[in-house]
Amino acid sequence: MKINLNRFRVTAPGKFKLSAHPANYTARMKSKEDAKADLEANVKSMAEMQDMMYAHDKWGLLILFQAMDAAGKDGAIKHVMSGVNPQGTQVFSFKVPSAEELDHDYLWRYTKALPERGRIGIFNRSYYEEVLVVKVHNLLEAEKLPDPVLKDDIWKNRYAQIRNFEKYLNDNGIKVLKFFLNVSKDEQKRRFLERIDNPAKNWKFSSSDLKERGYWDQYQKAYEEAIANTSTKYAPWHIIPADKKWFARLVISEIITEKLKELKVHYPVISDEHRQNLAGYKEALMAEE
Ligand code: ATP
Ligand code: MG
Repeated sequence: MKINLNRFRVTAPGKFKLSAHPANYTARMKSKEDAKADLEANVKSMAEMQDMMYAHDKWGLLILFQAMDAAGKDGAIKHVMSGVNPQGTQVFSFKVPSAEELDHDYLWRYTKALPERGRIGIFNRSYYEEVLVVKVHNLLEAEKLPDPVLKDDIWKNRYAQIRNFEKYLNDNGIKVLKFFLNVSKDEQKRRFLERIDNPAKNWKFSSSDLKERGYWDQYQKAYEEAIANTSTKYAPWHIIPADKKWFARLVISEIITEKLKELKVHYPVISDEHRQNLAGYKEALMAEE
């Protein structure tokens, strides 16, 4: 089934409202089974294109995931990237910054982790935390910024810095794909309860999850503002309905496949000289005792 991907893309950021994006949307698909064949086909074509992208060695692709806890970031990364060659991909998960990281400008640790040409880099959380958790909990103090910086309209400045950073990446051949996994508050509660009730999932639940849930509205507001201010032509946000994990994975795989197709990656074209040499090498091999 063909899904209209445009409905997930934020193309009119000025009018962006998170409430206009239902978390339980499934394009009239009923179950995981309805998505299975398309997801598998996408996983296969992503693997093929990523192999070519690696050989082509010109484009890079940064895919970043942001979401509330238990929205399914980890599972989406695991399933969607299951077919690609580990050699051509890398995943970085960003947690609370270390003392060393806090000693630098805020983009430092993210720029260090950017994908090389030919690779797909995945950010599980990203520099967007710098206008989300840092804003919701007012963590600027720990970032040791000098007073004149703090006095400015810091969030507005950071949105602009992030837009510029993504433009810079885009113009250098590193494309940026941004996914917000939009889970509802009810579904998050259900998933937390499951993590508490199921011993195999106990490790996934921490008390901080409940604490952060207490800031649900502040986070939604921070997300809405960040998305409205950083959705651009070259790096639009995608709002992925995440109450049904199988649907979220399908849509993410569709969007990544679409992006890779756009890049028109191909195996390097070899020169006539190299082709002629190959014939010579073959002869030499065949002539071995
Ligand atoms: P999961 O819970 O599925 O394992 P996670 O991404 O939530 O994945 P955690 O270790 O639970 O991982 O949480 C990481 C925490 O680090 C999050 O609460 C996030 O907000 C916080 N964090 C990430 N970047 C920053 C930052 N720049 N400043 C402060 N906190 C940050
Ligand atoms: Mg967590």
